[in-house]
Amino acid sequence: MYAEVILPLPLYSTFTYSVPEGMENIGIGSRVLVQFGKRKFYTGIVAALRPDPPAGYEVKPISTLLDADPIIRYPQLKLWQWIADYYLCAPGDVYKAAIPTGLKPESTTFISLNPDFDEDALDSLNEDERRIASLLAEEKKLSLTDIQTRTEIPKATALVKNLLEDGVVMVAETIIEKYRPKTIKMVKLALPDGNIEGVHRLLDLTNRSPKQQRALMGYLELSRYINADGEPDEVPRENLIKRTGVTPGIIKTMVDKGIFEIYKKSINRFSDLQKDTAEIPELSAAQKRAHGEIIERFRDHQVCLLHGVTGSGKTEIYSHLIRQMLDAGRQVLYLVPEISLTTQLTDRLRRTFGDRLLVYHSKFSDNERVDVWRRVLGSHESLLILGARSSVFLPFHRLGLVIVDEEHEASYKQYDPAPRYNARDTAMVLASMHGAKTLLGSATPAVDTYYKAVNGKYGLVTLSERFEGARLPEVEIVDMKDQRKRKLADGILSQPLKQATEEAMEKGQQALMFQNRRGFAPFVVCKTCGWTPKCTNCDVSLVYHKHSDTLRCHYCGFAMPLPALCPACQENSIEIYGYGTERIAEEVHGYFASRRVGRMDLDTTRNKDSYQEIIEDFSSHNMDILVGTQMVTKGLDFGKVTVVGVLNADSILNFPDFRSNERAFNMLEQVAGRAGRRSDLGKVFIQTTDPQSHVLDFVKAHNYNGFYESEIESRRKLLYPPFSRIINIYLKNKNSRDVDEAAILFSQALRATFGPRVLGPEKPFVSRVATWYLQCIMLKIEASASMTKVKHILRTIYESLARDPRIKSSILYYDVDPV
Ligand code: ADP
Ligand code: ZN
Ligand code: ZN
Repeated sequence: MYAEVILPLPLYSTFTYSVPEGMENIGIGSRVLVQFGKRKFYTGIVAALRPDPPAGYEVKPISTLLDADPIIRYPQLKLWQWIADYYLCAPGDVYKAAIPTGLKPESTTFISLNPDFDEDALDSLNEDERRIASLLAEEKKLSLTDIQTRTEIPKATALVKNLLEDGVVMVAETIIEKYRPKTIKMVKLALPDGNIEGVHRLLDLTNRSPKQQRALMGYLELSRYINADGEPDEVPRENLIKRTGVTPGIIKTMVDKGIFEIYKKSINRFSDLQKDTAEIPELSAAQKRAHGEIIERFRDHQVCLLHGVTGSGKTEIYSHLIRQMLDAGRQVLYLVPEISLTTQLTDRLRRTFGDRLLVYHSKFSDNERVDVWRRVLGSHESLLILGARSSVFLPFHRLGLVIVDEEHEASYKQYDPAPRYNARDTAMVLASMHGAKTLLGSATPAVDTYYKAVNGKYGLVTLSERFEGARLPEVEIVDMKDQRKRKLADGILSQPLKQATEEAMEKGQQALMFQNRRGFAPFVVCKTCGWTPKCTNCDVSLVYHKHSDTLRCHYCGFAMPLPALCPACQENSIEIYGYGTERIAEEVHGYFASRRVGRMDLDTTRNKDSYQEIIEDFSSHNMDILVGTQMVTKGLDFGKVTVVGVLNADSILNFPDFRSNERAFNMLEQVAGRAGRRSDLGKVFIQTTDPQSHVLDFVKAHNYNGFYESEIESRRKLLYPPFSRIINIYLKNKNSRDVDEAAILFSQALRATFGPRVLGPEKPFVSRVATWYLQCIMLKIEASASMTKVKHILRTIYESLARDPRIKSSILYYDVDPV
């Protein structure tokens, strides 16, 4: 038998391996360890089995079958294939994204001294090479990275290569199992089997140390029941320490005296979740109607859109639908666009669904993700999975409903690396493969989605009032030019925003200040000569980070300290401009010195718990004003926020692409939606230098439908989605001339077939990233065209040009349905 194996590499084809004797358990979806290339081992997934060997080459055998049962489930492979076909990427890319790293062990190259090497060779080594050799003599084996960090020799890789050629060192591949089960330390009496009388002897052993006696008594109390062998059962060391107040040192002494044994035990990460559940709040009349209509629409639609204004209680409606599904024994996937949202929702949903709720996203450690994966895989239970993008890849069983909350969010689309998939659209395909329904929810549906809903492709349910009649907030557009002219605003806050915030503070309410991430990063300029620091790898200016006093590239991670003098003119005249959240928080604190001001942005939320801490702090009113980026705008529910400030709407309003109006309307309406979600009327201040922008009129009136009508007309005229589909074709190359020429060549070939549907090539907004030069060609295809045909043509054109050296040296990739 032969197996077709998908490898975690950007390869378009599968690879064939033979199935050795004794591996009859193997099946589609099995995890196998295979050798690829000369040395490297990878974990692959069996995509198909066949009786005949492939023609024309010899195959290697599968090295190991990693599990007794497949770790993925029907129809996951089918979904992977759909993603690869639709988003024009390799199945290996999809596999890489789909499976947590802990389930994909691969080999790492280790370097060790060659025991047979010729001692004389040492004399010919230079000093650095000799340092590497003596380090290896001490450490036996090290990875390349270890050698580099330990010796701090910058070109260690090249030196190791020399040493390898001289026969001084050798390399070996070792497979590293990345998954670690969660373990805790357990304590148990060190008794010979079944010898309960021994306890008295142990008590005697401790009678000269009150602390040890306390530990032993505490242990006996905690270990209330006797196990099958007639011995007191094990106790977590942590509990023992907590109960008795003894130190780990005392327990250690008792282990040395032969009283206790101590060992590690794997535990189930889900064991401490609460089991009992509370009732879901009763739905209001309007919510009940919407709930009934959704069920009604699902009778003849696969997909239904719930268009409910901010604060209308969409979450409560979801909860009722979820409970019905779980009661029917089906699983539910609840997708949210941002990890920050899972935090608040986890608390809300945990109360209702207890340990049937699992959370899955990329801020979890890899081990935790593996545990969730295995729990979903191993169970036929009805489960609710709350997660971001990547949770569409979990091994669901009897999926009954997918909820895509805030379906309009651009963050559902993975931009880099491949697979460049949209989790919302993928979720719909996933649902239909399971015979499940998809519910899309939003206060500001994507124009494409709304178009499908009003044209009957999706069901449409509207909820136009807030829960308990809370009113939508008042929106005031503040003309910042005018503010500055009249000297009402010297810094970032306008007079009306300052005043409203002041009043809110006096009433014990809270305020939220939003600064768009794009375009407002603090930057550095030399006042004398105009020097600005640029990234050495990318075509962007470096951003100043105050807390670390460094300049950083947001594209490739390059960092350098802020120079004291200008490197170009040597003058002491470097100035920092621009308003990042950090500086805003400081300035806000300057106006409201007695108030607690917090900040939520990429910097302050690097680890998993920091979201939760900030959100909890703000929710429990340990903080009066929260300054943040995009993260604070989406779906969060803070009852006491009555003032929302959009500090600078200009960069939101003036972004040059066909979705800019949609993005601006959604973002502003969503930020506004955070204000006045309970009884107090909210007020929103949108600061801009362009108060005439017509998007702002729609936001002011909370008029989604008006906005949609105007937007869909312009899309129709210009033939943009939903009246067409867009595929962006990117080429990248380390040589700028090659990429320019390759792009021209490729676009000419495309034009011969697609004519005016081809736009560009054009340099993208950031035209060099991590030392790669970029070019982009846009393909705009009628919505009615066959995408299969289009994609086939794309492949043919690529093949016909593949041997041109400029194409060959470039990397080409597609972004299908960019957002
Ligand atoms: P949306 O997601 O539509 O913006 P939420 O679901 O966050 O709105 O609801 C807004 C607030 O109103 C939440 O605090 C929620 O708990 C509350 N709420 C909504 N519906 C109900 C209900 N039926 N009973 C009690 N509280 C509700
Ligand atoms: Zn200078
Ligand atoms: Zn960079």
